Amino acid sequence: MEQIEILDVPFSRLTDEQVFARCIEFIGAHKPHMVITAGPEFVMRLKSEPALRALVSAADLITPDGIGIVLASRWYGQPLADRVTGIWLTERLLSYAYDQQLCVYFLGASETSLQRALQVLRARYPGLNIFGRNGYFTPDQIETVLADILEVKPDVLFVGLGQPRQEQFIADYKERLGVPLAMGIGGVIDVLGG
Ligand code: UDP
Repeated sequence: MEQIEILDVPFSRLTDEQVFARCIEFIGAHKPHMVITAGPEFVMRLKSEPALRALVSAADLITPDGIGIVLASRWYGQPLADRVTGIWLTERLLSYAYDQQLCVYFLGASETSLQRALQVLRARYPGLNIFGRNGYFTPDQIETVLADILEVKPDVLFVGLGQPRQEQFIADYKERLGVPLAMGIGGVIDVLGG
């Protein structure tokens, strides 16, 4: 069985490498997909805010990003092998994007943190098509944000606005943006910049 339901959230039972392989399929399929990496906080938030359940339905894959989810899976008698974290998946996809000359876009974090991360990644992956925009924008700036992403036409869109805002952004705009793979990454941009 490919999924396990934990408090009504269908977590993938795929190993990290299988999740990565699925992401590559998503990229190749040329239609929008959303991946959520979810920890216990996200699951609890869904319990208290049922409106957020639409995000679960909009996701193509939900990975267990937190030891709490792995522990819970044991309670359900269907132990998950391990976590599949946002940082791991981001790093793996960046390396793949570099090899395959894909284009990636980071939306999120402060301007300083974003620029630091872009600088680190450009040094690590020279020539990688990498773009970004900070995550501090007002509702009336959303059209500008969307226009920038549409102009770049990334293969992978990493959104680090914090959960669940990043997933809401992807769910709201994934069809319009037409990015084959979009995923919420929380504070990963800050981590990448060191
Ligand atoms: N952030 C943002 N815009 C906002 C609020 C937050 O870009 O309006 C960024 C923040 O700078 C940080 C990330 O979202 O880089 C949230 O990180 P956190 O680790 O708190 O997210 P979580 O993984 O807990 O969802």
